[in-house]
Amino acid sequence: MQDISITVVYDNNPYKEGLKTAWGFSAFITSPEKTILFDTGGDGSLLLSNMEKLAVEPNKIDIVVLSHIHPDHTGGLGSFLEKNPNVTVYLPKSFPTKFKDNVQDSGAKMVEVEQPMEICENVWSTGQLGRWIKEQSLIIRTERGLIVITGCAHPGIVNIVNPVRSSPHWGTDAQYLTSNGVNTAKDLVKDDILFVMGGFHLEWATKGKIEKIISAFKKLGVRSVGPCHCTGEKARSLFEKHSGKNYINVGVGKVITMADLQ
Ligand SMILES: [Zn+2]
Ligand SMILES: [Zn+2]
Repeated sequence: MQDISITVVYDNNPYKEGLKTAWGFSAFITSPEKTILFDTGGDGSLLLSNMEKLAVEPNKIDIVVLSHIHPDHTGGLGSFLEKNPNVTVYLPKSFPTKFKDNVQDSGAKMVEVEQPMEICENVWSTGQLGRWIKEQSLIIRTERGLIVITGCAHPGIVNIVNPVRSSPHWGTDAQYLTSNGVNTAKDLVKDDILFVMGGFHLEWATKGKIEKIISAFKKLGVRSVGPCHCTGEKARSLFEKHSGKNYINVGVGKVITMADLQ
């Protein structure tokens, strides 16, 4: 499970030269079993052009996971499905019928997510969380802890990470240990959230609120952070200040591998 990589293909924060930034988020994830596109940014042609420059081939993607309905996360889906309809799209059950019809009309398979569920080996959805805007986040289980990827974190970034840590679904319980037969992984996986990245939705948060979130992360055992998209500059720099070398500067074109996570 070491050969995991996350490539940010769409973000409003710049990182690698030659790529376009725009409001929204999308990340391409490779795991040993499947390749996943998490969110699709707002603009399909921009998504596809960034993907091309990053040598991410639409045809090599198996699964698309949409975090929530906002157009800066779902806008690129149509263009992507024109290139590769041979995928399974995991979306929150609360999505409008029209949206779901369009996905199915494209020829893609669709899975409506309500509860936490396994998407492929070692990759999970938190299930749709939140009261107003339903949102799912992605969890990747590694030998060194869990990776959490969020779209906009509308349900609250701590409300997303907190249940992740203690959920019986992906890690701490005997079921996991017997299904994998790896007893030694228990203590490593149990308490550690190796990495949280994505939009943290703190653009308009006060310094006090942001600092509370940073200390909540510390209590939750979050080791590395890569806030981007709707996190906001103020929160990004406070996370950077408090996280030191465990802060990962995420923008479009950034590639994160296990070697980047301490
Ligand atoms: Zn949003
Ligand atoms: Zn957003």
